[in-house]
This record gives sequence, structure tokens and C-alpha cells, in this order.
Amino acid sequence: MGFIAEGNTLGWEDSEKFIDYVKKHGVQQLLNIWKNNKDRMGDSFKWGDEVEYIMLNVDENTNDIKLSLRSHEVLAQLMQKEKADPQNVEFLWRPEYGRFMIEGTPGQPYRGLGRQLLGIEDSLVKRRAEINNNLGQNERIVTMSAYPRMGAQDFTVPTALPKGNVAESQFLPDSVINPHFRFSTLTANIRKRRGKNVSINIPMFRDTKTAPYQDRLTYTSPTKNEKDPINQPYNIYMDAMGFGMGACCLQTTFQMSNIEEARSVYDQMAVMAPIMLALTATSAIFKGYLSDIDARWTVISQSVDDRTEEELGHKPLRRNKHIINKSRYDSIDSFLSSGSMLRSEYNDLPLVYDRETYNTLIDAGMDEILARHFAHLFIRDPLVIYSDKIELDDTKHADHFENIQSTNWQTMRFKPPPPGSDIGWRVEFRPMEVQLTDFENAAYAVFVAILMRAISDLKLNFYMPITKVDENMKTAHHLGAVLNEKFLFRKNIRQSMSSGPVEEEYEPMTINEIFNGNSNGQFAGLINVLRDYVRTLNFDSETSTLVNRYFSLISKRASGELQTMSAWTRQFVQSHPAYQQDSVVSQEIQNDLLQRCIEITNGTVQEPTLLGDLY
Ligand code: GLU
Ligand code: MG
Repeated sequence: MGFIAEGNTLGWEDSEKFIDYVKKHGVQQLLNIWKNNKDRMGDSFKWGDEVEYIMLNVDENTNDIKLSLRSHEVLAQLMQKEKADPQNVEFLWRPEYGRFMIEGTPGQPYRGLGRQLLGIEDSLVKRRAEINNNLGQNERIVTMSAYPRMGAQDFTVPTALPKGNVAESQFLPDSVINPHFRFSTLTANIRKRRGKNVSINIPMFRDTKTAPYQDRLTYTSPTKNEKDPINQPYNIYMDAMGFGMGACCLQTTFQMSNIEEARSVYDQMAVMAPIMLALTATSAIFKGYLSDIDARWTVISQSVDDRTEEELGHKPLRRNKHIINKSRYDSIDSFLSSGSMLRSEYNDLPLVYDRETYNTLIDAGMDEILARHFAHLFIRDPLVIYSDKIELDDTKHADHFENIQSTNWQTMRFKPPPPGSDIGWRVEFRPMEVQLTDFENAAYAVFVAILMRAISDLKLNFYMPITKVDENMKTAHHLGAVLNEKFLFRKNIRQSMSSGPVEEEYEPMTINEIFNGNSNGQFAGLINVLRDYVRTLNFDSETSTLVNRYFSLISKRASGELQTMSAWTRQFVQSHPAYQQDSVVSQEIQNDLLQRCIEITNGTVQEPTLLGDLY
């Protein structure tokens, strides 16, 4: 989740008087970085992945599988090597939101494509093994986005009661939160800033015996308003940050050769974000119910939505400055390139941005598009301020900038170089759901890396109006979107310049068409474009074979020949003998589901509907 400093964090009331200071200096820190790095050229293509893991506990008597709230202890062991010799570690281990989560990245970035690709799956396998070596006898790790029975009764080891004073949740005990202060402060401050608990509502899957108010029976509604989604039939209600930020993803970050290359691939990948979310969908169950959505994104988005009534436009602006259209965790609001491929029509979302920040950046010589992007990030308040890190040398530190930047959790992140390092301009791709096996995670990471290079080298053009990308983002959540829905996509992705009406540039396509091409041959399909591109890279045969296997997985997921994990999970639950056709995923069903997931990951059972004969 990024940027974890040591020190004392301030509660919301104490933070408020420092907010303006932090923002003002954040802008200065950004400007210093920008001035020092805007002209840097020729950085090499380096990249890396981030995988988030969930720790489970298997009860040796009952076989019940629950969340193990011990990841901070395992992390302390895992991080010892780095403490001893930070320059020479194979993996970097970081805490994540949940006290059951672990985040792992490679110790050194991957360099370029080529034979380097052969080592990625291996790195993931070893990473998993390193965690496994530090687990207790009854503990397991899995890579799945959402733990199915999060917030359903008694879901942790050790058992804990909800209604703590950090999250004040009816369902989640505070002990699910990582003990590092940053995470509890984030949780409490989001709640305090908005003036009440977060309210996450998603549709329940309606099976033949699903009762309309099934979930409603498990909680006291914070509102009597009949229209509030909380009180609607077939709704799943969640009330704490942990429901969202306790979910896991697979992220990839790329260093590009210069700022403009980073800005343009940022834009192209932003269009790909909803498509990749639907294609990697793994989350079908929330709070112990089959849901009517396939992916985690909206749940996290609602789980950290700290907007006040004023910012939501429900009350006139008095204390706050802006009416804000989205949560802090959401899709991006503007394209960034300064190249001619970006027509102004594509930036069709009225961008909310902080005028003062914008003026400061413009006065310092930053161009409008970039200044607006950063000024947009600065409409948010810093959520966690460290009392001993307020006055800093803005030429040497970026803490205040990072404070704002790292709590703008969007589909893409545009990352300036850290001060005093040799790292260049980077782009982070954030939407993908983490997959069960290292094979799949490697496949998606490699696919994205090759796509990034192809976008840049072939000047691929995915642009369409950003409001249409947002429509795709909504579509991506729908049950079975990967096969049943159409996404707006650009018809001609090899067009460097265009002039006619923008509406004629894109059309609805299935994900199968986007990846595998359409039957009339007018759209070649991304996999075919990438296969052609890869041929120009002259990989040796071993690397080509591997890349083909990865492309095969993605192509088959797109065509439906292989299932997404969301689809597979639904089928598993719905055909389980204990399932009552009521959308409820009981402890017993979850036990079998997670057991199966562990076996698939370890390769002790085959799951051809999910993986074919590829793994
Ligand atoms: N776990 C979050 C997700 O699933 C991401 C947190 C992070 O930014 O690392 O998207
Ligand atoms: Mg993370």
C-alpha cells in the first residue's frame, strides 16, 4: 500500500491544523523533484511486480480454515535478511493493511524483457516458499483477492470481537488491522473525516432460495432511510476499511526512459485497466455470500471513501473546498500525455483540481495537463501525519508529496523519481486481481510488461474518452463480465493521428474480441498484435515457448475456454453438497473451497477448467 514511515501518527483532530502545511510542502517537494528530473532521458526499462498474500489457519481438529492474524510476526522474520544486508536480498517484504496480509516484491528490478522473463515465475515460487518456511504448522498462504468469509461470524484465529474503537465495525474486530500505527490511523481518520463509518454496499447474487433481507438480519442499520442501499433487499452491507483494503492484488511497476514516455503509457494502460480487471476477476464471495459482482475494486473504493457530505455535494461547501466525483481509490480522471495522439476530446471528465496547487505548479513552469493531474491529487487531505516528520527539508525529502500521492489509490499511478535516487519516471498498473498460482501471476505480469513495451515501441493507440473508460470500469464488475459483457474499445489501435468524430473511433467489443480479434478480421486482437511484436524481439526458443504459454492462458481466459477464478468459485460453491441455493457460503463450504485453492496452488490437484493443461 506504499509509504510506511516509522514514528507517531496523529489522530484526526490533531492532524487538521497541519493539513495545509503538509499540502503546501508536498507541492514544493513535487516541484523540486520535477525540476530536477523533467529533462532526464535514457533510463532503462526496469520493472517489478507486487504480490499480496493472505495468511490462513487450519484448525487441526475441525479443519476450519480462518484468517490467521499473525502476519506481522511472520513479516518480522521475513524482513530480518533485509535488515542485515539491505542491498543483497532476493525479496522485499512489506506489511499490508491486514494483520493477515503480506506483500512481497523482487529485491532487484527485472531488467528489460528477453531471458529475464524466464526467471519471474521462479521468483514468485521462491517468494511463496520463503513465506511458507516461516509459517507455523497449521498456517497456509493463498493468493486470492478477497477472503470469502471476511466479516462473517468468527472468522479469525485468534477469535476476536468486533466493535473496536478504531474501525467501530459491527463485523470486523480491530485485530484484523496490521498493528503498525499507519493502518489503524488511516482507518480511524477516514471514518472521522467523513463523520461516520464507511458504507460498502454490493448486490447479493440471487439464487433460487436467497432471502431478500438475508444480510439485513445480521446488523443494526445506521439509518432508517428506506432508500439507503443498506436497507435495500439483496444487498450485502460492509462497514469498515478492512473489507476493502483487506483484499489483495497483483501490481506491476515500470520505469520508462523519460517523463513523456511514462505519461503516454500511463494513458494507454488506463484504458486497459477495466479490461484487465474483468479478465483477472477472482472475487465472487463477500462476507460469506455469493455476490453479484466478480471483482474487488468497488469494494475497496467504497471502503476508503472519506468524502464528507459537503464533498459529496449533499451540503453546501463550507469547511471543504471541492465537490468530488470519486473515492480516493478509483479510476483515473485525466489522461497525461503531451503528445499529439491525445485529443482534448478524450479528457472529457470535468476534472476537479486544487486551484492553489495548480497555480503554484503553472507558475513554476509545469505544463497544464501535468499540473492539473497533480492538482487533482491534492484535492485530498493527508490522512496520516507523523508528528515528528512535519518540518522537513523539501529539497531532500518527499514525505509530504508521498503522503498525498500514496493515498490516491487509482487504477494507474504516475510516479516521479524519489529525491536523491537513481530511479527514473515510473508507471504503476494497479487494477489486476491476484491469481491463485504463481504461473498465472507470472503470466499476467509478463503480459502487461510486453504490452507496455509494445505500446511504446509500436505507438499503439487505445485512446477513447475517459468517461467511456469509467463506463467500462462499471461493466468490469458485472458477474461474468469477461464473457457476457461488451466493453468500449478503439477500433483502430494503429492510428497515430485522428480527426473525425470521436464517437466513431470506438465500439462495443467482447473481451474475446479485444484479445483474440473479431471474426471479420477488422480487429486483430491484442494477443495477435503482441505475438507479432514479440517476434521482432528475437527471443530465444525457451523464452518464446514460455511467453506463448502465458499468452495462451490469457487468450483462453478471454475466450472462455478457461474460467476466471470468479466463475470457477461460483461453480464450486453452487455445486457443493452443503450449498442451500441461498447464496450463503458457510464455513463448511469455505473450508473445502480454500482447501481446494491451496491444493491447486501447490499443484497437488489439477483444475483443468481454470488452467487447462498449461499448469
Ligand atoms: N490491496 C489493494 C488492492 O487490492 C492495493 C493496496 C496497495 O496499493 O498496495 O488493490
Ligand atoms: Mg500493496
